[in-house]
Amino acid sequence: MRENAAKRDSGQFNGLRNPRHIENAVIQFQNTYAALPESFHSAAKPSVAKDPKLLFFNEALSESLGLDLAQQPESELAALFSGAELPSSSKPIAQCYAGHQFGSFSGRLGDGRAILLGEIESEGTLFDLQLKGAGRTEYSRGGDGRAWLGPVLREYIVSEAMFALGVPTTRSLAAVTTGEEILREARFPGAVVARIASSHLRVGTFEYFTWKGMGNELRRLASYAIERHYPELAAIAEPAERYLGLFRAVADRQLKLVAEWMRVGFIHGVMNTDNTTISGETIDFGPCAFMDTFRFDQVYSSIDRRGRYRYRTQGQLVIWNLAVFASTLLPLLAEEVGEALAKEQLEAALDGLDVAFVDAWCAAMGRKLGLENAAKEDAPLIEAYLEHLETNALDFTNASRALRNELGRDDSGFYREWAKRRRGTDAEILAQMDSANPVVIPRNHQIERCIQSALNGDRSVAQELIAALANPYNENESHAWLQVPPEEHEVVHQTFCGT
Ligand code: AMP
Ligand code: MG
Repeated sequence: MRENAAKRDSGQFNGLRNPRHIENAVIQFQNTYAALPESFHSAAKPSVAKDPKLLFFNEALSESLGLDLAQQPESELAALFSGAELPSSSKPIAQCYAGHQFGSFSGRLGDGRAILLGEIESEGTLFDLQLKGAGRTEYSRGGDGRAWLGPVLREYIVSEAMFALGVPTTRSLAAVTTGEEILREARFPGAVVARIASSHLRVGTFEYFTWKGMGNELRRLASYAIERHYPELAAIAEPAERYLGLFRAVADRQLKLVAEWMRVGFIHGVMNTDNTTISGETIDFGPCAFMDTFRFDQVYSSIDRRGRYRYRTQGQLVIWNLAVFASTLLPLLAEEVGEALAKEQLEAALDGLDVAFVDAWCAAMGRKLGLENAAKEDAPLIEAYLEHLETNALDFTNASRALRNELGRDDSGFYREWAKRRRGTDAEILAQMDSANPVVIPRNHQIERCIQSALNGDRSVAQELIAALANPYNENESHAWLQVPPEEHEVVHQTFCGT
C-alpha cells in the first residue's frame, strides 16, 4: 500500500508537468548505467520547477568537460539544470543502493533526491551528470526529493573548493533556484545542484546486491566498476585476482582521500558506506566542515552525537567501511576460490589497511611540514605538531601556513625535532609547504554568510567566495578577509545534513 502511494507521488507517476524534451541538445548523454538491469535503478523524472533561475554556472568545469554551454542564455541553462528541459539523449534514472549509516544497515536507500540524467564522455572518460533536489523518485520514502538553497550552496562552494585544493571530489556544474518553497524548519527557497561525478557507485551499491543475494548483478556491478574506474584490472584473466585487485584499488584511493581531508582540516561528518565512493571521490557535503581551531576530536555534525566521524578517527572509520566493502565481495570471490580461501584473502587485504593508512596520512601530513617522502617513522613528529596546535588552540589553516616563517626555530620539542628531520634547501622545503598548506579554505561562518545573503537575494557574497577559493594556495591581498577565523559569536558549532 505505502509503496504504491509512494510510487504515485514520485516523480515518475506524479502527473505534474513533463519536462520538455529538446532535440539537438547541447549535451549528448550516454546511458551506460541505465542500460544495466532493472534492479540497478528506477526510471525517474525531474519535477518541472515553477520558475527556474540560474544561480551559478561553472564555466571552467563545463569547458573541461567539452560542453558548449557558455553561449547559452541563462534561462536555457536554468531550464536544463533544473530538469525542466531534458536533452533527448537523457534517460533519467534514480540509482538503487543500500548502506551502513552510523554502523546500522539500511537495505534500501537509493537516490531519494537525486536524478541521474546520464553520462557525459570527455576524453574517453565518462562523467555522471546528476540533478540533486529535482523531485521525488522511487527511493524517496517520506521525503520530498527536494533541496533548499542552503545545502545546495554549501555543496557548490565546498565541492569546488575541494577540487581547487587538489582533493578528489565530485564537482558542481551549476546551481539553480526553482521558484518554489521547501518546507523544513521554516519555508526556504528550493534549489537544485547539478553534480558531476566520475560515477555515483558506492560501497552501498555493492551492499545492496550482496544483501539481496543477487550474484549475477553483483558480478555485473563489479565488472562495471572495474571498466569505469580501474580498467587496468580488466586485463587480469583470473576473476579472483580481479576482485581482490578491485578491493585493493578502492582501498588505496579511499585511504589516500581521507589522508587528504586531514591535510586540509576537513571533517566529512557523515562518512557512511553509502557515501564511500568506488571512484575514491569525496561525495555528500551535508554536515561537513573545515576546522578553524584545531582539535583532534572536533565534530560538527548535529547527528553525529557520539563523534563517530570526528577528525581524528576518520581513517579508522573509512577502514570500517572498507571492511564492509570486503564483505560484499566475499560471495564473488568464494565462487572462484571457495569460502575459506576467499575469507582468508580478504582478511589479509584488510589487515594491511591500518599500516597503509598511516603511510598515506604521513605522506599527506608530512607535506605540510615540508618533509619529502614522509613515512611512518615521521608519525611522532606529525603528532607532536598537531598536539602543539591543539594545546595552543591555534587555527589549523593559518598556523600551518605560517609555519613557513618558523624554519629558523629549534627552541622547543616540536621545533627541534622538525629542524632535525628536514632535508633539502629552505627554498625546496618552502615550495613543498606552500603547495600543501592552503591560504584560504571555505570557513563555515563564511558559508553561513553566503547562505544568509543568498536568502536575501544577494548572490555576490557567494560569488566572491567561490572565486577566491579557486586558487587556495596563492597569497592574495584581496582575500585577506577569508583568512580571518570566526569571532566568538560567528563560530559555527553544529552543521546539519543537507535534507
Ligand atoms: P544523505 O543524507 O544524502 O546521505 O541521504 C540519505 C538517504 O536519504 C538517501 O537515500 C537520500 O536519497 C535520502 N534523502 C535525503 N534527503 C531526502 C529528501 N529530501 N527526499 C527524499 N529522500 C531524501
Ligand atoms: Mg549521501
